[in-house]
Formats: sequence, structure tokens, C-alpha cells
Amino acid sequence: AWDEARFGLPLDLERFMIVATSDFNMGAMENKGLNIFNTKYVLASQSTATDVDFANVESVVGHEYFHNWTGNRITCRDWFQLSLKEGLTVFRDQEFSMDMAGTPSARAVKRIEDVRVLRTVQFPEDAGPMAHPVRPDSYIEINNFYTVTIYEKGSEVVRMQHNLVGRDGFAQGMKLYFERHDGQAVTCDDFVQAIADANPSSALAQHLEQFKRWYSQSGTPVVHARGQYDAAAQTYALTLSQSCAATPGQADKLPFVIPVEIGLLGQDGSALPLQLQGTDATTASQTLVLTEATQTWVFTGVTQAPVPSLLRGFSAPVVLDYDGSDAELLTQLAHDSDAFNRWEAGQRLALRYALQAVRADGAVAADILPGDFVAALRDVLRHPTLDAAYKDLVLTLPAESYIAEQLDVVDPQRIHAVRESMRQQLAEALQADWAWAFDTHSATGAYQPDPISCGRRALTGSALLMLCLAARTSGDTVWPGKAYQRFKDAGNMTDRFNALSALVNSGAELAKPALERFHALFKSEPLVIDKWFSLQASNCDRGGQVLPAVKQLMKHADFSLKNPNRARSLIFSYCSANPGAFHRTDAAGYVFWSERVLELDAINPQVAARLARALDRWSKLAEPYRTAAREAIARVAAKPDLSNDVREVVTRALGD
Ligand code: ASP
Ligand code: ZN
Repeated sequence: AWDEARFGLPLDLERFMIVATSDFNMGAMENKGLNIFNTKYVLASQSTATDVDFANVESVVGHEYFHNWTGNRITCRDWFQLSLKEGLTVFRDQEFSMDMAGTPSARAVKRIEDVRVLRTVQFPEDAGPMAHPVRPDSYIEINNFYTVTIYEKGSEVVRMQHNLVGRDGFAQGMKLYFERHDGQAVTCDDFVQAIADANPSSALAQHLEQFKRWYSQSGTPVVHARGQYDAAAQTYALTLSQSCAATPGQADKLPFVIPVEIGLLGQDGSALPLQLQGTDATTASQTLVLTEATQTWVFTGVTQAPVPSLLRGFSAPVVLDYDGSDAELLTQLAHDSDAFNRWEAGQRLALRYALQAVRADGAVAADILPGDFVAALRDVLRHPTLDAAYKDLVLTLPAESYIAEQLDVVDPQRIHAVRESMRQQLAEALQADWAWAFDTHSATGAYQPDPISCGRRALTGSALLMLCLAARTSGDTVWPGKAYQRFKDAGNMTDRFNALSALVNSGAELAKPALERFHALFKSEPLVIDKWFSLQASNCDRGGQVLPAVKQLMKHADFSLKNPNRARSLIFSYCSANPGAFHRTDAAGYVFWSERVLELDAINPQVAARLARALDRWSKLAEPYRTAAREAIARVAAKPDLSNDVREVVTRALGD
């Protein structure tokens, strides 16, 4: 119904058939007569699946269904065009989830989640040895190019087209695309041509050839912004310039077409009207289209020095370099009418303090976050009208991998210690507020999977973890006890698993009996046992206990490297998603990694090659990590009879 209403695309089958399998490398596959699903992305009940699982199921079911038009009816001329169907279909599933979510704030939550994935996974890919354009020029093994660049950055490139021509203009473009190409195998160029031709006066059509550089140039562009306020003339001049670092095989980049949506805030946070010099119209928000290396826009009638709100809604997949003051960011955090940028202001502040602490000498401080920032976060947590899901995102610190990306030399242990210290500070400084949030947001009635209820469960889950972390230092046993109670009594997997996570991640004594009980309860539910493995492998490392635990779990009767979901739940959760535990000064994490890559390569090269990418960013590591990581990669590369999949990844890594 959604695809018919939004894009005029009805189902062309008499019945839509799917099969679910518990052994599958990918999430799903859109074969026209019979979709294949990994059980993880189609089986869900409230007693075994979390709210996040439900959301993933909705996305993937949507994704495969939408492929029927964007992938099957019109398919790719060759594998270099993979993003033609994947980027577009991710865009469609993201829009589907947003339209299902409904309210502006629930849409913003989805947007923030998608951008978080882009920035924590795709940006590092685009800066590392596996960087490739959205339309790659070469590959050895195409399975290695089912990447976040093809999927998520590809979706952002479609989203920019959507934003440049508007929602209706984009629907017209899709219509033209199907009129021209239904039943054909085509290229990324054909797609963007159709969107532009349906919107001949749009900025996309005006800059079409240049826009296509998003498909051919790899790397994440940086947009540098500088503002100048002239009080006498009441003008504000905004200068935007762009640059993009060299990536493998691409030393020099030509300027991109970058839509930058902006607004201006007064010092009290109210929206200032925007009027471009030489125009009559005033708006609250405006999209500037940056096409040159540097351009300046002048706004008139600006009655006070404004706080610029730049790249609203994350209007382009770029890094924004704007050196706003702490005070400006605090104003945005309290008032920005753009929900994305309001969240972003908090992230920028947290990132700023994290980087200062990482770069500082000596022991990691206990009070990294200034009082006014902690107070601002308290205001968000206690805010009377913001949604719980949104609050939860604002109160979540930037990921360790995202902090690492900002640094030229990465000490993963230092970053882990800094982020843990910041989290502990928030746990203790806001203890009463977390308790309030837990009490007031805990649901009483029947389980409901709607965005509001999901948000409340997410926030109470975070609150419980923070309260258990605070209990670590105070010696209090009340909150771990409450967490255990919630774990036992929960009427759904989300609350149950959040409570278990709070116990495990805070290192509570009750974690052990809870883990045992959880295993006993769900031993016949493979997808739940995956969570059980994953939780332990991604546990917060305190003195190196995670690797021995992972090794022990490999001996568990339920563990098997042969089942992709199970391998991911234990091995990937440790190697690819737990930097503080994986990067050890004794190099034991890297040795473990190289052994598992080789073991997996003998049975499943596709999955092995994914695991091989855990050390993509080795060349940025500080010593002793750097040398040890390189040695581990070289050990893998030296193995005779490696699959093409793994060979391509490790060869590119060593070439970095
Ligand atoms: N085309 C699939 C998808 O994106 C992935 C695969 O090839 O298995 O859904
Ligand atoms: Zn797909």
C-alpha cells in the first residue's frame, strides 16, 4: 500500500512467497518468485525479539519487497551498478520506515539512527584501504562490495537527489524512470538522468554532470564553514568551502554538488528569518547548493549575531567543519527547531570534550564533561515534550569508533577509558534523573510495538544501565537488584534483554546468574542464543576479561563457526564491535582474529572476508597496536590457498 501511494508501484505477483533459513550469509535476497530471508530478519515475537529486531524486520521485509521494482523489474546492467538497486532500495526502505513512524520526532529518530550507521561504519570505510566509489571501477570479488558505501552512501546520494527536486519531483522522476526502463538492465547514470529530466529546472538538472561525481569519486568530502556578522550592515556572510582527501587510486578530487540546508538562530534560540541578499522572500530554512571549491552567501536583515544551524537533517553525506563555540552549541542543544541538529549539537560537544581528554597527558580525568553540558543533558532528559526515543539518542555518547575517526593516531585503550569515564560521570551526576526517568517511563500495560512505547523501553533500558553503573562506585545494591527483578519479570524481550545488558555491562555480581537463567530459558531459540553470545562478546572491557570469556564461549556446546549468525554473534561482536576489548597491548586480540579469519576462510570465504575487515584501519593505530596489527594481517596474507574474498581485503589493507 505504501509503495502504491508514494511511488505508484503495485505488486505484480499473485502471491508473494518467502522462505526463511537459519543459515544465510546476508540479511535476505530478493529473488522474484521466492524471497529468501535470514530468520533474524523475518521471525519475531515479543517474547524473543527486541524492539530493534522488530524495526530491522520491518526494514528488511520492506527492502526485499521494494526490490521487486527497484532491482527486479529494473535491474543492473553489470555489477559495477550494484548501488543502482541497493542504494535506491535502502532509500526506499528508510523512507518507508520513516513514513510508518509518522510523527516528525519519530522520523528524526530514524534519521539519526541511519546517520549514526553512516558515520560510524561508512565514513571509516571511505577513509580506509577498501574505499571505493558508489559505482566502483574494479573489484576482484563482488561479494566484497556489498558494502555500506554501496548501500548506505548510495542511499544518501539518492536522498540528495530527492531533496534537490523535492518529494513530488522525486516521485515524478521515479515515474519517468519506470516509463523509460521497465524490463531493462540499466546504469546509475540512467537513474539520475530520469530524476533530472523529470525536473528540468531543478538544481540537480542544472548541475547534473557534476552531481554524478558522487557516483565516481570515493572519499567523504569535508565542508568547511565560516560565518561573519556585520552588525552595522545587519548582514551575515556564510562561506562554505569543500575538500576531499585522497583515496586509493584517486589522488585528486573535483568539487561535488553539496546541498547544505541551513537556518539561523538568535542568541535566545529563536529562529531568525533568512533572506538572501538580492531576494525578497524570507524563509526559516534554506538549502544552499555548494558547487564550487568556495562560495559565499550573504543574508540581510540579520538583527543580531546569529548561531548558524548547518547541514540540517544531515542534508549531505559530508563531514562538517564549523568551529562553533560551546555556547553556540548549547543554544542549539536547547532550542534548534531542526531535531537532527539539536541532537548533533550534543554530539559535537561530547566529541569535543572526548577529544580533549584523549589528547591530554596523564591519567583520564573523572570530570571530563563541564557542568553546563551535564546540566543541558539533564534538561533534555527531563524535558516535558520531547519523545523518550529522542532523549535516549541525545543522552548516548558518540561511539568509540566515531571518536577514533577524528584522530590521526588512534589509541583504542585511551579512547575506551575516556568514553567510559564520561559515561560514568553521566551515570553519577544524573543519578536522580535516571531514577526519575526509569520510574516515569516504565510501561505497565500490554506490550505495544509503536514508536512511543519503543522509545520508552529504550530510555528505561539506558536508565537502568546508568543506575547500575552508578551503583558500581557507591556500592549500592538496590539498582542491580531491581535490574535482576526486571530481568525475571519482564513481559517482553526488550525489557528483559535491556535488564540483562545493564547487569552484564555494569559488571554486577548478578550478571552471572542472570546469564545462566537466560540461557536456560531460551536454549531452544537460536536467535535469542545469538544475543546471549553477542552480549558477552561486546561487554565493557575492564582489565582484559572479555577475550578469555570469548575463548571460553567458543567451547560452549551451542557455539559453531559454521552458522553465520552464530559466528557473527560471538566473533564479530568481539573483533568488529568492541574496540576497547579487541585492541590489547599484548596483541592477543589480533592473534585471535587472524586464527578465526583463516578458520572461517576454509568454510565460508564471504563471511571470512567480512571479518578480515576488522583491521581495515590498522595504519592509524598508535604503537604497539600498529605493528602487531600489521603482523597479524601479514600472517593471514601469507597463507597459501586463501580465497579471493579474503585475499582482496588483506592485500588492500597491507597496501595502505
Ligand atoms: N540483494 C540482497 C539485498 O540487498 C543481498 C544479497 O545479494 O543477498 O537484500
Ligand atoms: Zn538490497
